[in-house]
Amino acid sequence: MTPVLALRGVSKRYPGDVVALDDVTLTVSDGELLAIAGPSGSGKSTLLHIAGTLDLPTSGTVELDGEDVTRLSDRHLSALRGRRLGFVFQQFHLTDGLSAVDNVTTGLLYAGVPRRQRRPLALDALGRVGLAHRVEHRPHELSGGERQRVAIARAVVNDPALVLADEPTGALDTANGEAVLDLLTGLHADGTTIAVITHDRDIAARLPRRVEFRDGRIVRDSA
Ligand code: ADP
Repeated sequence: MTPVLALRGVSKRYPGDVVALDDVTLTVSDGELLAIAGPSGSGKSTLLHIAGTLDLPTSGTVELDGEDVTRLSDRHLSALRGRRLGFVFQQFHLTDGLSAVDNVTTGLLYAGVPRRQRRPLALDALGRVGLAHRVEHRPHELSGGERQRVAIARAVVNDPALVLADEPTGALDTANGEAVLDLLTGLHADGTTIAVITHDRDIAARLPRRVEFRDGRIVRDSA
C-alpha cells in the first residue's frame, strides 16, 4: 500500500550552513499514530514544515499520498495541502471573531467542498471532538482545552490523509493536555493517521510509534 507520507534522503540546510535535517528517511503508513520526538533544535519543526508541504527540502524527495510534492506547482501544492492534510498548532490558531462551527468550516475552504455541505460537516466534526454543545461559542468563550478541540475538529473535518499536530498539548494544563491526547488517540482508533510533534518524552511514550530526532537525524524509530 502507498504510504501516506514518504521522506527519502531529505536534508534541509539554512543559510549560514545550518543543517536542520540531515538525510532523513521516514515512512508513515495509513492509520498510524506516531510521535516525532526530540529536544529543541533537533529538527522537528523543519520536518513538520516539509511534511506539511509548507517548505521544500534542499535535497531528497517527499511523497504525500504517492505524489512527489517537490515536483508540484504552488497551486497544486496548496490544493493537495487543503485536501489531504490537517494541521493542529500549539496556540490553536483559531479566528477570534468566528464561532466554533465557522472556525471548523474554514478547514473546508480550500478543499473544494460545496458551500451547502460545509456546515453539516463542521457540525459533525465538532460532535466527534465532544463539542456538539459549544458550536456557536467563540474562541474567547471557550477554555484552552475546548479551543484545541475546535482546532482538531478543523483539522479532521475534511477527512485528511494525515494530521500534523505541532506540540498540541504545549499550551494546556495537565488535565486538558491529557484530554487532548485521549481525543487524538480516539481519532486514531477511528482510522485517522496522526503525527504528533513533541519535545515531551511522557507524551511520546504514550503513542504507539516513536521517532526520535537528534541534530537533524533520526536516532531511534520504534517501528
Ligand atoms: P525543533 O523544532 O526540534 O526545535 P527546528 O527544526 O526548529 O528544531 O530547528 C532545527 C535547527 O535548524 C536548529 O539549529 C535551528 O536553529 C535551525 N533553524 C530552524 N529554522 C531556521 C531558519 N529559518 N534559519 C536558520 N536556521 C534555522
